[in-house]
Amino acid sequence: MPGPAITAILAAAGTGARFGGGENKIFAEIGGRPVLLWSLEALLASPRVATAVIVANPRDRDRIAELTRDVSQVAEICLGGAERADSVWNALQRLPREAGWVAVHDAARPAASLELIERVAAAAEQHRAAVPALPVTDTLKRSDDGLTTLTTVNRREFFTVQTPQIFERGLLADAYREARAAGFSGTDDASYVERAGVPVRLVAGEAANLKITHPEDLARAARALAPPPASGPVRTGFGYDVHRLVAGRPLVLGGVTLEHPLGLDGHSDADVLLHALCDALLGAAALGDIGEHFPNTEERWRGVSSLRLLREVARMVAQAGWRVVNVDLMLIAEAPRIRPYVGAMTAIIAAALHTGIGQVNLKATTGEGMGFVGREEGMAAHAVATLTAST
Ligand code: MG
Repeated sequence: MPGPAITAILAAAGTGARFGGGENKIFAEIGGRPVLLWSLEALLASPRVATAVIVANPRDRDRIAELTRDVSQVAEICLGGAERADSVWNALQRLPREAGWVAVHDAARPAASLELIERVAAAAEQHRAAVPALPVTDTLKRSDDGLTTLTTVNRREFFTVQTPQIFERGLLADAYREARAAGFSGTDDASYVERAGVPVRLVAGEAANLKITHPEDLARAARALAPPPASGPVRTGFGYDVHRLVAGRPLVLGGVTLEHPLGLDGHSDADVLLHALCDALLGAAALGDIGEHFPNTEERWRGVSSLRLLREVARMVAQAGWRVVNVDLMLIAEAPRIRPYVGAMTAIIAAALHTGIGQVNLKATTGEGMGFVGREEGMAAHAVATLTAST
């Protein structure tokens, strides 16, 4: 990743008055998962986004903490202020030191695609500030009473703006500080940067990246988040792998390094989960197996990150004319507890496969104390991948 890491600020403190009911709309569910988690994981799917700070309404704080308990990248849940701008300002005071960039995102925007986030991040790196925007397609009228038109304005000069809005950290923090001192209040983060005299780059937004405002928006977002239907022939592949546990090696699973006294032994980083997944993908595309493409006799694969292998496999599968419908992974390990890392692993795998996080499922079980897994001599993993012809 070029440049310093991005910290996501998730603005979740809104009350959602237009959504109806007493509940914050970020808790409404799409596919059994709250909108807040979709929005959070959409950002974490980008390898550029390292951590997240969530700004919560005091009344929702405990519930958000409970929902995100297993998402290891959530650095902080801080309390929001009276206005959205107060909330973002609070979050800017709580950023991890290493955050060089900030991506402010509405917690009620669950369907931002990975491509969109990467596009905005790349533009921000080049121009210091970038926002996703959509051109206005309807004719725009000016009216001073809401009853009769005064004039028709040139709609080409107007854009609707979405989130994530990505900025150089210092630029946004300084712009907010100066604006607050001057009593200025803007309706989005870009307006603070504009006020500071720095042009904000417009990047193509996405119609599907809607903000949940009314109850009917949930169905639209659900359609955007559903895996695309199979568009032709479908192929399924299976993968299995096993590695020995030894002392003195890091434990790498699903692209994440875990705290554990033992690590998996192997020629590469021995990420047993990703190896099983590579074999499932290669199997579905009838491209052989991982040992054939990355032989453990070759020096260039020594100590290599299995994420690199997975990205290479994803490239081969795409080149052969396939796209991923879904993958399902099962780790069999006695310890440590995997649950806290599942969100991070899912996001990393989805990013490597260029899919949504809803297309990646990851679960774990123990050996119930039996066999080589139960004795903690090793770990095993199974994976199934379904592909369809790319159109
Ligand atoms: Mg292996």
